Order: sequence, then C-alpha cells, then structure tokens
Amino acid sequence: MQLVFATNNPNKIKEVQALVPKHIKLLSLADILCIEDIPETQPTIKGNAIQKAEYIKNNYGYDCFADDTGLEVEALNGEPGVFSARYAGPQRNADDNMDKLLLELKNHTNRNAQFKTVIALHLKNRLHTFTGICKGEITKEKQGTKGFGYDPIFKANGYEQTFAEISLEEKNKIGHRGKAVKQLVEFLNKC
Ligand code: IMP
Repeated sequence: MQLVFATNNPNKIKEVQALVPKHIKLLSLADILCIEDIPETQPTIKGNAIQKAEYIKNNYGYDCFADDTGLEVEALNGEPGVFSARYAGPQRNADDNMDKLLLELKNHTNRNAQFKTVIALHLKNRLHTFTGICKGEITKEKQGTKGFGYDPIFKANGYEQTFAEISLEEKNKIGHRGKAVKQLVEFLNKC
C-alpha cells in the first residue's frame, strides 16, 4: 500500500517509514510530483492538517497523512497557535518569532505553554486525526542551540533544560510530534 506523507522533509519520511508496517510504502510530495504550496488557510492547527491531507486526496488521488504544529501560550489566549511559523511576519524567522513572544510575555507571570501537533490521515475514504501535546513553559531568555523553531525558549514540564538543550532522541520521546506519530503508527499497525 502506498501512502503519501505530505512533507518534503526526507528526515521526517525516513523516521516515520521505519515505524510503519512493512507493507506501507511512504511517498513524499516530491514522489508524487506535487511542487505547489499546499493551502493552509484554516483557523486551527487541526483544520490545517485536515486541509492538507484532503488537498492531496482530492488533487492527486492518494491516501495521505499531513501534520501541523503550533505553540499555544496560555497567557496569550493560545497564540501564536496556528500562526506559529509566521508569528513575527511572513519571513518565518525563528529568532524574530521568539523575540516577539518573549516581548509579549514580558509582563506575564503565567508562562504556561504547550506544543500541539495534529496529524490528519485520509485513508480508504475516512478521515482520522491524532493529537500529540507537550506541556511546559516559556523561559525568560533563549537557551541552547539544538532543534529549531521555538525550541530555545520552551522547557517541557519536569525538565530543567529547554528543547534546544536536550537530545533529539529525548525530545522525540516526550515531544508533541513524537506522541502524535506514535498514535498514527499504532493505528496503521492495526489496519
Ligand atoms: P509545522 O506545522 O511543523 O510546519 O510547524 C509550524 C511552526 O511551529 C514551525 O515553523 C515552528 O515555528 C513551530 N514548531 C513546530 N514544531 C516545533 C518544534 O518541535 N519545536 C519548536 N518549534 C516548532
């Protein structure tokens, strides 16, 4: 069975391919010659994940799964959320995004936040979603050089180090994306 993972990141494909049953062959967007930007115009993380999976099914005919992630900050009513990638502007710059968030939170004592990943799977004409959440807090300044995005300012609950200071292996174990992928894989293993 062929299943499209709506990403162009070969590392993500490799990582998930190793976890899914052997009879499932994952295809990337490049494999199906999808080179256009897939619309992500929904107001929620879940909505965007579903929109991407449905876009591939409707335009290319493949069963597909797509993921979408955001950082939700309690004191900011869930922002940046669905706007996480372009919080500080269309340039999608991680440092600018973090600087803006630290500034917005400057006078807040509540620094609770969570990363949320939703994976939407379009399989055999049915839609399934899997949600992974990692709760933690926003630090006062950037710490660490590993990872990407908001990792230098996010500490998971129970950790003294930020996501940018722990190993990728550790992050995958406790992180939002890892938890969502685990649920997807468990589901596919039962199909
Ligand atoms: P995407 O849906 O995976 O493209 O994620 C959207 C945005 O959320 C990214 O551009 C990052 O700013 C942020 N983000 C997603 N996953 C992570 C993560 O694991 N660590 C830090 N930031 C992340």
